[in-house]
Amino acid sequence: MPRIKTQRTKKPPTGFAEIEDTLLEFANRLKDVELASSDGRRPNEALWPVFQITHQRSRYVYDLYYTREAISTELYQWLLKQGYADANLIAKWKKQGYEKLCCLRCIQSSENTFRATCICRVPKAQLPDDKVVECVTCGCRGCASSD
Ligand SMILES: [Zn+2]
Ligand SMILES: [Zn+2]
Repeated sequence: MPRIKTQRTKKPPTGFAEIEDTLLEFANRLKDVELASSDGRRPNEALWPVFQITHQRSRYVYDLYYTREAISTELYQWLLKQGYADANLIAKWKKQGYEKLCCLRCIQSSENTFRATCICRVPKAQLPDDKVVECVTCGCRGCASSD
């Protein structure tokens, strides 16, 4: 009888063990907010925590690699491939003026039909003092680089 080869999932690159707990924490928080009832909230608002947590997780991976240089390129690429961070968003963070960008949808003018740029992208200095900044897409309260 031929032995059935079980498809083993590829082992994560070295260094993963050190960050696994933090990533697990993000995963748990995501699970919590996804399970949380959206009663009484606008559909957009229910998604805010999801955006915020995935943003924080992407930022965590970004910092590990680019700021703290704490992980290898191999592990970094692997994390992107596994969906632990948003490669497209990180690509923006590397550009001047987008270092703090909250989410890609806030710069996709085609989705914001009534304005070209999301309010959260406008520097605080250019807004009236009493203006409450809260983007409808992700609940961002301002992510202009100069803030
Ligand atoms: Zn924003
Ligand atoms: Zn956003």
